[in-house]
This record gives sequence, C-alpha cells and structure tokens, in this order.
Amino acid sequence: MRAAVLEDVGIIAVREVPAPEAGPGEAVVKVAVAGICGSDLHGYASGMYEPGLIMGHEFSGVVSSVGPGTAGLKPGDRVTAHPILPCGVCPYCAEGRVNLCDAMGTVGITHAGAFAEWIALPAANFRPIGEMDFRRAACTEPLSVVLHARRASGVAPSDRVLVVGGGTIGLLMADVLRLAGISRLALAEPNAFRRAVAERRGSASFDPLHEEAGRFCERHLGGAPTVVFECVGLPATIREAAQTVAKGGRVVVLGVATEPVEMDFLDAMYNEKSFQAVYSCTSEFDEALRLLKGGALDPLGLATSEIPLSAIAEEGFGRLSGHHDEIKVLVHPD
Ligand SMILES: [Zn+2]
Ligand SMILES: [Zn+2]
Repeated sequence: MRAAVLEDVGIIAVREVPAPEAGPGEAVVKVAVAGICGSDLHGYASGMYEPGLIMGHEFSGVVSSVGPGTAGLKPGDRVTAHPILPCGVCPYCAEGRVNLCDAMGTVGITHAGAFAEWIALPAANFRPIGEMDFRRAACTEPLSVVLHARRASGVAPSDRVLVVGGGTIGLLMADVLRLAGISRLALAEPNAFRRAVAERRGSASFDPLHEEAGRFCERHLGGAPTVVFECVGLPATIREAAQTVAKGGRVVVLGVATEPVEMDFLDAMYNEKSFQAVYSCTSEFDEALRLLKGGALDPLGLATSEIPLSAIAEEGFGRLSGHHDEIKVLVHPD
C-alpha cells in the first residue's frame, strides 16, 4: 500500500510499504480521511519520533477485514478510532485514565497511523460512526482533546475565559466553551484569517502582537481571565498566559511545548495561579462522537484544504510549516 513515511526530521515521503494484516482481536480499516494535527507537525519538525513512522491519528474509514476473535466489527462498518492504545491492566487504565497508561501506545506515534491506505488497530479502539460524513468523523479526536481540557479545567459559566491560539484546537476549544454556556470568552490569535474564523464562530478575538491580552480582556470580559486555555505551546505564549490569568486563576496548557519554558513561579505563588497540562483524551472521545452525531458543532468549518495523500509532503506538511492561512488540512488516501 502507499503510506506517508516520516523519513527524517522535516522529511516525509509517500512510498510503498507492506499493507497491515488484522492480527487476533484487530481490524484493518481502509482510510477514507485523515486530518493533519498540530502534534503531527511537531513530530515532523522536532525529530521526537522514530524515522519510519507513519503518523496520523485523526481519521475515519471502512472496516475491510477483521482478525481472529474480533467481536463487534465486520467488513463494511464505517468507523473512527480512539487514539490511545491502553495496556488495560495498570492502575491508570483501571481508573479509566487511559491517557496516563503506564504502557501506553498511541496511534500514529508508537503504532502505524492513518496517513496510509489502510490501518490496523485493536478492534476495541474503533467506534461506529453510522452515516456521518467521513470528514466530520475524522474531527472526533481533536474535539475529544478540547472536551478533555474543558473537563480537567472545571471551567464554569461564571468564568472569564481566554483561549490563546486560533488553530484547530483553539477554535474548537472556544466552540465547546460556548456550548457549555461560557459567554465571557476571548480568543488571542495573530493571524487575521484565523481571527475572522473565530469571530464568525462567535468569539471576540484580538491580535496579541498588537494588543495586550490583559487590556483586551479588561475591555471585553470585564476583568482578567479566570481561566486561560493555552493552545499554542510556545514558551512566550505559555508565559503570557501565566501573566494574564487572574489571581487565583488557572492556566490549562493544551499546546505541545517542545521546548523548556522559563516561568516566574514567584508571581504564580503570590497570586495563587494554578497550572494544568492536559494530554489527549479518555472517555471524552465517545462524548465527542455523540456531539458530532447529534449535529452539534461544525468542525468541518475549520477544514481549509483537502489534499490527496500523494501531495502530503508539499501541500500538507510543507505548507503548514511555513506562513499559511490553513486551519485543518484533510488528507484523502485515494
Ligand atoms: Zn490530533
Ligand atoms: Zn495501562
């Protein structure tokens, strides 16, 4: 089959690789759509993944074969998949916190992902999507990440909330906050196109390079934000989130911080600011799928390009690594 293989730092190539076969308890899915995630871009640019990896964990497709002893799935089923491969026996798995599993595998990181014609995973990871549009179903994973962050934050309608970053995660974060009744909400994003998308979806937005976050929040939220969702992961944006959050407030970090971040913890201490980093999702994946099946939210409004797998290097990873007006790029293996 053809797959996009991470060959080295900043090099991804589409080439022939052996097609996966369904082992015991597994199913093989013909990939219909796979989204390029910000974390894939970090993996591509940072060298944190092993060469030879097939990335891609936001996808949907059709079951083509099932291995021995596989219950609940049959060829022809339309599915998406939970991105975590839990061991199932460690204390974290026992609590349902599979994203903290002691022996965790992850689709597209430790296990071949969906930038390929076919993908094999344990059947337990697949979820039926019914008649849902494949592209919409491929957005279940990023939606589950922001639902996980929302739950971890304990955010309430009385909070003043700042979302830092208007990529897929920041924009979906704002969507699920509005859905939870948070009305005092602002989004910081330097890119004008992304700000326009944020405004269309109902968020007051501003350019943090031209307006101080604290001042904007004062004017639009009536005070410093009591919760900040940091969806960028750069040292500067994490520090700014920490400075901007109100006394006694919380900073929730979803951004992938690939560099160490120098922080003023004296300010955090005197002002009792708390920090929570969140990773991936647990049962929120099923909550995300329910929301999408119910017609809530419009993740496809964030899909700015759809490209064939053969173009993933130049039009996908290449373009997303430079200056661009993309939000979510969807890849079609056909
Ligand atoms: Zn993702
Ligand atoms: Zn485990």
